Amino acid sequence: MNTKILKVDLNNIDMDSLKEAGQLISEGELVAFPTETVYGLGGDALDAKAAEKIYKAKGRPSDNPLIVHISKFEELEMISKDLPIEARKLADRFWPGPLTMIVNKNDKVPYETTGGMDTVAVRMPNHPIALELIRQSGCLIAAPSANTSGRPSPTEAKHVVGDLDGKIAMVLDGGEVGIGIESTIVDLTEDEILVLRPGYITPQMLSEVIGKEVKIDPGIIAQDDTTKPKAPGMKYKHYAPKASLVLVEGEQDNVVSKINELVQEQHKQDKRVAVIATDETRNKYKADVILNIGSRNDEDSIARHLYKILRECDELEIDSIFSESFQTPRIGNAIMNRLLKAAGHQVIQA
Ligand code: AMP
Ligand code: MG
Repeated sequence: MNTKILKVDLNNIDMDSLKEAGQLISEGELVAFPTETVYGLGGDALDAKAAEKIYKAKGRPSDNPLIVHISKFEELEMISKDLPIEARKLADRFWPGPLTMIVNKNDKVPYETTGGMDTVAVRMPNHPIALELIRQSGCLIAAPSANTSGRPSPTEAKHVVGDLDGKIAMVLDGGEVGIGIESTIVDLTEDEILVLRPGYITPQMLSEVIGKEVKIDPGIIAQDDTTKPKAPGMKYKHYAPKASLVLVEGEQDNVVSKINELVQEQHKQDKRVAVIATDETRNKYKADVILNIGSRNDEDSIARHLYKILRECDELEIDSIFSESFQTPRIGNAIMNRLLKAAGHQVIQA
């Protein structure tokens, strides 16, 4: 299949391009598009065959459900049943935005879309191209991240093309995304409201709106196999770079000294080494490659560059990578959830 790549200017959206993309979705084809979190791989959410195509293009296990993207609240009502009051409250406050809600599905949603579950994940993205694509297609759009399963989520169109060229009908290139990590997932189907995947919207922000405590699913914090995560996708081993990745935790100065020590040890064994650093520390390291992830004064910049940096690691001929840790004040949990998985939980205390 020839994948058509169309550039779309965020500030001046070309409606003909969006109509063409919407038409493809309505015909059961797949189109990758930007959202504010990461690029999504979209297909008609209520068409079982389109959902199957998504799993096939990504090489995604079929028990890992898709998130349904909508452009108005009524579309949530259309595909759910027993919608709890919290859904309306959270939508009023956070939609459009990086929050996915798990609710009970009704018969309109095929099991292919939900990986066999009786619940469905729904989100209204805060991105003009994504919203216009949903409207133009006349569909609800099932869209997981537009990467090959096991690769880092794409934050630029070129990452999508690298993974899915020839496998999907179209890529809408709307430039670099704003947030860079996937949406927060909150489960509203149980008495206890749990965050199944940490993201830009924190449990505290959710608690404030619904007036009761929201906890993080113990299954995603546990490092053993006894407690399973509730979101099927969180159990899969995520991206690990080809080179070994080790995180170093502690006070900034200690981390810098420790990493420099570790680099020296590697150099003695003739290894090529990269360090993941920040604006504040990048000049303090002596390694073969320094990858600057962003600034500690701007934790959003760290989230935005995380996946891009992990992709870059594979393009470099290096043997090991040492990274600072980013337990930043607000979204540190979300950043570290991804980075710890990439590092296979290898952490050294400085
Ligand atoms: P992605 O679309 O690649 O960001 O992945 C979607 C995430 O949402 C995966 O971790 C899924 O397991 C999770 N998810 C989707 N639907 C449900 C659901 N009904 N219940 C629990 N988790 C879900
Ligand atoms: Mg994904």
